[in-house]
Order: sequence, then structure tokens, then C-alpha cells
Amino acid sequence: MEDRQIWRRAKEAAEANYDRLSPATRARLDCLLELIMGLKEELFQLSSAAGSAHICRECGGRCCLNGKYHVSVLDLVAYRSAGVAPVMPDFDKAPLCPYGGAEGCLMPPRFRSLTCLIFNCELVDDRMEPCSRDRFNVCERELRGAVAMADDLLACRAGRALMLSCDG
Ligand code: SF4
Ligand code: SF4
Repeated sequence: MEDRQIWRRAKEAAEANYDRLSPATRARLDCLLELIMGLKEELFQLSSAAGSAHICRECGGRCCLNGKYHVSVLDLVAYRSAGVAPVMPDFDKAPLCPYGGAEGCLMPPRFRSLTCLIFNCELVDDRMEPCSRDRFNVCERELRGAVAMADDLLACRAGRALMLSCDG
């Protein structure tokens, strides 16, 4: 199956999975996704404070190569929960990330994948203040824990790579 078809099927399955939750479970998941998106924003801010925007532009986004595998089923569920249309991937850019553009990532930080947000190479990490690095590590742990809770609510491994599964 080609990438566009895998993505479309996985998106439809993720949305159907969200839509068929009971109102109570959906409300709990919405709260959890708010927490997840807040943690992602904070991780992004901590990296930004270390100068990631400039450093990553100079690097050309090497860690974004093959970024199509970073995005998870849960990331698409988060768009559904927020009532926001997901960023459409452009798979013709391979091996560049299908969610990247000339100015960098097209996804708002709160909708980026866990993998995109928790990785800092040493160029960024070396410029992080110790207290910021400590906070970064706490956010990562809390994010992983929240994703595990979302897995339970959705009764599936929602944190898995979207492009490696199209069964929702
Ligand atoms: S985190 Fe490091 S490898 Fe990734 S884009 Fe930034 S500078 Fe490049
Ligand atoms: S989604 Fe954005 S941050 Fe993640 S790999 Fe792609 S371009 Fe990079």
C-alpha cells in the first residue's frame, strides 16, 4: 500500500476510534490530551530557550529525516479531539519529513509527535541550562506516562507509529 493510502486509512481509523468512545471516556481522553499538548508545548519552549530554532535551521533538520515514522495514531486523535484538521503530509518530499516545509516543521508544537519533541542532539542539549534540562526530563517522563494512559483509554497502542499501522 502506498504512503498516502496508509495515512488516509490510519487517519480514518483513529478518528473512528475516538468517535465511538463513550462520552465519559472521551471527556477523560480530552483532558489527557490537553495535558499531553501542554507538555509538548513546554518541551518545545525548553528547546527553543536553548536556541534550537537557529541551531536546527543551520543543521537543516537532520533528525527530521524519515519523520513520517514519528507521527503516532494518538497524534491524529489529538487533532480530532481539538477539532483541528491535521497537517496533510506530502510524501513526495521523501526522505525529508512529509510534515516539513521551507521554514521548518508545519505542525504547531502541541500537535507534533513525542519523538519530535523529546529528541535534542548534543548541539541543542549542550546549550540547555541544567535546570531546564531537569525540567525537560520531567516533562518527557510525564508525557510518556500520559501517552500510556491514553493507550488504556483507547484500548490500543495509540502511541505507535501511524505509518506502521492502519488498523486504528
Ligand atoms: S536537534 Fe540536532 S540533529 Fe535535530 S535538527 Fe536540531 S540540530 Fe539538527
Ligand atoms: S513532524 Fe516536524 S519536527 Fe517532526 S520530524 Fe517532521 S518536520 Fe521534524
